[in-house]
Amino acid sequence: MTTNHYEGSCFCGAVRLTVSGEPLAMGYCHCDSCRTWSAGPVNAFTLWKPEAVRITRGADELATYNQTPRSLRKWCRRCGGHVLTEHPLLGVIDVYAAVIPTLPFKAGVHVNYQETMLPMRDGLPKLRDFPAEMGGSGLAVPE
Ligand SMILES: [Zn+2]
Ligand SMILES: [Zn+2]
Repeated sequence: MTTNHYEGSCFCGAVRLTVSGEPLAMGYCHCDSCRTWSAGPVNAFTLWKPEAVRITRGADELATYNQTPRSLRKWCRRCGGHVLTEHPLLGVIDVYAAVIPTLPFKAGVHVNYQETMLPMRDGLPKLRDFPAEMGGSGLAVPE
């Protein structure tokens, strides 16, 4: 059995990371927090177990901003580039899909779709907030 490794980095390259294996989930988050933090209309996320994510360079350049204890948002001090969000209460790390371009990104779900500013009619399930197993309602909304 071989394990896949995918390399990623921040915008300037000072922070580098490797993710190993396959993500637990991939998709798009449409929440207002992701939007205002990223300055983009959606966040393309890939979720990993913490042990699958390794910062291989520039760990001391990673700064953290957390508005709530649910999400520790990490970014590079040098370039300001966003790298990942730790979700300690859920035990997962979201490494933004854009940070690991060699990972084939295949979205499986849209979350927080009730807050969308960019409707995406791609036939994938659209959850009003989060899946029930992540503490959400699990309810789907129409595209
Ligand atoms: Zn950087
Ligand atoms: Zn979000």
